[in-house]
This record gives sequence, structure tokens and C-alpha cells, in this order.
Amino acid sequence: MDYQKLFKVEPGTKVDLDKIDPRFTANHSNKVSAETEMAKYTRSLCDLQYLLYAENKKSLLICLQALDAGGKDGTINHVFTAFNPQGTRVYGFKIPTKEEAEHDFLWRVHKRVPAKGEVSIFNRSHYEDVLVVRVHNLAPKDVWSKRYEAIIDFEKDLADNGTKILKFYLHISPDEQLRRFEQRLNDPTRHWKISEYDYSERELWKEYMKAYEDALSKTSTKYAPWYIIPADRKWFRNLAISKIVAETMEGLNSKTPKPTVDIEEIRTKYHNAATEEKGDPHNKKAQKKDKGKKKKRAAQQAEQKLKDEKKKKKKEKKEEKKAAKENKGQNQDKG
Ligand code: AMP
Ligand code: MG
Repeated sequence: MDYQKLFKVEPGTKVDLDKIDPRFTANHSNKVSAETEMAKYTRSLCDLQYLLYAENKKSLLICLQALDAGGKDGTINHVFTAFNPQGTRVYGFKIPTKEEAEHDFLWRVHKRVPAKGEVSIFNRSHYEDVLVVRVHNLAPKDVWSKRYEAIIDFEKDLADNGTKILKFYLHISPDEQLRRFEQRLNDPTRHWKISEYDYSERELWKEYMKAYEDALSKTSTKYAPWYIIPADRKWFRNLAISKIVAETMEGLNSKTPKPTVDIEEIRTKYHNAATEEKGDPHNKKAQKKDKGKKKKRAAQQAEQKLKDEKKKKKKEKKEEKKAAKENKGQNQDKG
């Protein structure tokens, strides 16, 4: 099934989140079948990130957005652990610090975009500045409303510099969110995640949906598309994201760079000689042969040494003669 086509927000179209079923699971009816399919994308993600890192030419930026308990942390834990931590960075964007708030809204984000060969995963992102900021009136409308354009330009600039951008909105239903909050209540290891703020935010669900619809509609572009992932079923969410990211990375066509040395020369110079020297302790015949080879090599080396010394002496003599001649010339000039 073509998840890219199914879930991509086509640039220029208007999103209506009410029309998208958060419980959609395509042709999968259960976790086992989804996880079986996902295993192959997990392997691809691992291989493709290795190539991206080795090639060191392009980079990948993944933005995850969702309401509380929408599954951003779970996605990082289940999908992106396929990547080697060497070359992968995860950043969570919280309420801006004093220093961050004193800069333009893209400042803290720009510092964390991936370098060549790297993957950056944003757990929340610059989109908070047109979501929570809008819903809570943290900035006036004439400030946040200009940010869509700023975001488009910013992402275009990244894309022009070799960064592939993928943006995922994890779409959950209010019922599923409440169910997940309740699960947290029943699991003492997750009590630390609970805040009353998460519950009060539920009252603003409609406002959030409106803000998300605008952000998704206005900022899905050819070079930085949004995908709306049905996310009530965690296993389907993981599969869909794995597949879309793997297919996108495949399209980057990353290759390991050409070697900078002559591989055969290195093999002959260091490895074959070392193997010959070590020999095989269990093979008498080979050992005898090795001994012969060693003797021969020693004789060759001695001969070469003699030749080198002769050459050196000859050179020195020549130089001495030349110096004497020059000396004589100078003395004659003086006289
Ligand atoms: P969490 O992701 O649950 O750790 O919470 C982070 C909190 O920071 C969320 O409530 C976000 O809405 C909030 N946050 C992130 N970015 C911003 C921002 N630019 N302005 C205001 N609040 C933000
Ligand atoms: Mg939270």
C-alpha cells in the first residue's frame, strides 16, 4: 500500500482533520501482521542511515508533531532506534528558555538542523510557534500569522542545501488520548509524565485542530511535505512512519564514497606480509616454505641495503667534489 500517497498533504490542498480516521490501519487488522511488515523497513532504515552517514553529502530532518500522548516519544523509541546513535540526534522543543525567547522563533531550531550525513529528529518543532502560541495567544495574530511564510522560506533553504525534510502529524482521537492518560495513571513508572495541564489542554481540542489544519495546509510543500498519520493504533503508526521514511531515504540514493587509497596495495603491503610472517603454526610444510621465504627476503633486504649505502657514498663524494670546485672558484675571484 502506498502510504506516502495516502497520507501526504498535497501542497495547496486544505486539510479537514475531521475527515481523517485516527483508527485507520490500512490492510492490517492486528499488531502481529503490522510488525512483521515493519521488520523489513527497520532493517532498511539501519542500512540507509549507514549510507547517508558514510556518504556525508545529504541530511535528513524529521519533525514530529502531535498533541499530548499522541505518540511522539513512542515513535522515536520504536521507529528511530533503527538508526545508529552515531549520526542521529533527537531534540525536544519545550517552552522557550529566556535566551530562546529573546531571539526570533527559528533561532533555536536552526542551530539543531542536521549537518551533512546526519539525521535530526525534532520532538515538537518550530511548528509550536503557530500551534500552542496561536491557541494560547502567546503572541499577537499579526506575529504568528507571518510565521507560515517564514517557515516555508526556512525549509526551502534547508532543502536547497541538501536536507531532506519529512514532517509527521500523529493524528489521535480525544478518546484515545484519554485512554492513554488513564494508562499512565495505572503505571507508576509513568506517573512522572502526568500533568493537570494535559487535561486542561483537552478543552482546547477544537482550537488545536483548527491551528493544525492551518499549519498542515499552509506549509506542506514539495520539498517539505506533511504526512498525517492515523495514530490511535501505535503499531500502525510505527509501520506507516517506518515505511515512509525508508522509502524516502531510498530515494536519496546515498552511496559509500570511493576509497581514498589503493585497496590492493594496502592489502599487499600490510596484510599479506603480516600473514606470511605469522604463517600457520599447524602446517609444517607451510612453515618450511615461510622460512625459505623469510631467508630470501632477508637476503634481498641485505643486498638492497648495500646498494643504498653505495649510492649514498657516491652521492656524498659528488657533493664534496662540487663544493671543493666552488671553493676554488671563490678563492680565485678573491685573488
Ligand atoms: P512535552 O513535549 O510534553 O515535554 O511539553 C513541552 C511543552 O512545551 C508543550 O506543552 C509545548 O506546547 C510547549 N512548547 C514547545 N514549544 C513552545 C513554544 N515555542 N512556545 C510555547 N510553548 C512551547
Ligand atoms: Mg506533555
